[in-house]
Amino acid sequence: MQLDETGADQNSARRFGRNAVTVENARRRVLSCAAPTGYETIPLSACFGRYAAEAIAASDPVPHFRRSGMDGYAVIASDTAGAGTDRPVTFRVIGSIAAGEVPTEPVTSGTAMRIMTGAMLPEGADAVIMLEMTAVETTGTVPAMTVKRSISPGANVSGIGSDVAAGTSVVERGSRLGPAEIALLATIGVPQVPVFRKPSVALLSTGTELLSPSAPLEPGKIRNSNVYMLAAQVISAGAEPVLFDSVPDRKDDIARAVVQNLQQHDLVITTGGVSVGDYDMMAELLQDWDGELLFNKVQMRPGSVTSAAVRGGKLLLALSGNPGACFAGFELFGRPALTAMQGSQALEPVLLSAMLAEPFPKVNAYPRYLRGRCWTEGGRLMASARAGDQSSRLLPGLGADCFVIIPPGGDGLAAGDAVSVLLFDGRPAG
Ligand code: AMP
Ligand code: MG
Repeated sequence: MQLDETGADQNSARRFGRNAVTVENARRRVLSCAAPTGYETIPLSACFGRYAAEAIAASDPVPHFRRSGMDGYAVIASDTAGAGTDRPVTFRVIGSIAAGEVPTEPVTSGTAMRIMTGAMLPEGADAVIMLEMTAVETTGTVPAMTVKRSISPGANVSGIGSDVAAGTSVVERGSRLGPAEIALLATIGVPQVPVFRKPSVALLSTGTELLSPSAPLEPGKIRNSNVYMLAAQVISAGAEPVLFDSVPDRKDDIARAVVQNLQQHDLVITTGGVSVGDYDMMAELLQDWDGELLFNKVQMRPGSVTSAAVRGGKLLLALSGNPGACFAGFELFGRPALTAMQGSQALEPVLLSAMLAEPFPKVNAYPRYLRGRCWTEGGRLMASARAGDQSSRLLPGLGADCFVIIPPGGDGLAAGDAVSVLLFDGRPAG
């Protein structure tokens, strides 16, 4: 440690003089350095949660033949004109078509063909009468049915291309592949899908006090929870976490681990050591950083010391060691970065407006991101911060499904005031 003639720690002084950027500005800086990963082609069945690497369009219309939407009878609609309860219209039934079959003869005026849901309409027919609207009227050996209501042309028929017209893009480059996209890709005949490679994320916890979850407790030491929490967050962001043993607060060891992992992974996330304490070695490393420092202070609570830097084109996110701040730092910067690396354009978190259930009297210099919960009541979205949400605590995270965002300044908030909430991805159900 360097002390000047007044006894002050010069490194600490440098650290206190940080310039705090807004959360939005910090996110923009991170996103400007989050380059998309390369591509790979994977089976459709493995695509859930991945991001399409290119736009994919339907080469054929869906459906590609006129399909019945009902079990009933294929007819010419104009034959039912004038039909009513006291004026039934009778059709001669000339055959039956199951789903998957090709009708062998056309329907002509006065005739009908029995047809099943999903089956191909015969030539000539332009509508399907629901089975429930008909009555069997077989006389002798001639099968017949009657209908007591008129129907319009096109009724209960899915026309060619009525679901998806040929040439329609079903996914764009960077679309996240969920059930709807995957079903469409199957329908248009894409069994192998080009997707962005999952970003590989090295997770490095720093702190001499850290033990592994398998280690017995020791005086003064705590178990490393951040690395496991972050691994879960990284997975929910569609990326691949790589977990390392924690590194003690020794600058050289941390520098070596960070630099080496920046070469081998798409993103490195560290936790701890970015604050102003004597052993906050990530902060020191970033002061002498051989690369671009994006920011080393953000206008947010918790986690104002969250830092980010780039070296060799790779992004380093240095999060606070406090579990609450670490969690927030990942959600606000890590998740959007990983989403961008997978080619997505949907990078800004979606904020919802909610009504605060309990007062929050504390006045803040910076926006506060409280772990909370939201629900609907009388048609309104309500939000409540978890009790005792200090960033050093783990328990307030249990059951939290959103950040309740308390704006800076003012006199604090009253119950019933409007707040923004940011729903967590991969939030617990129920
Ligand atoms: P730091 O950011 O290094 O100043 O750490 C802030 C607080 O978070 C300290 O109380 C640390 O002991 C705690 N902490 C640091 N790293 C971890 C970790 N990986 N898991 C749980 N707590 C941690
Ligand atoms: Mg520390």
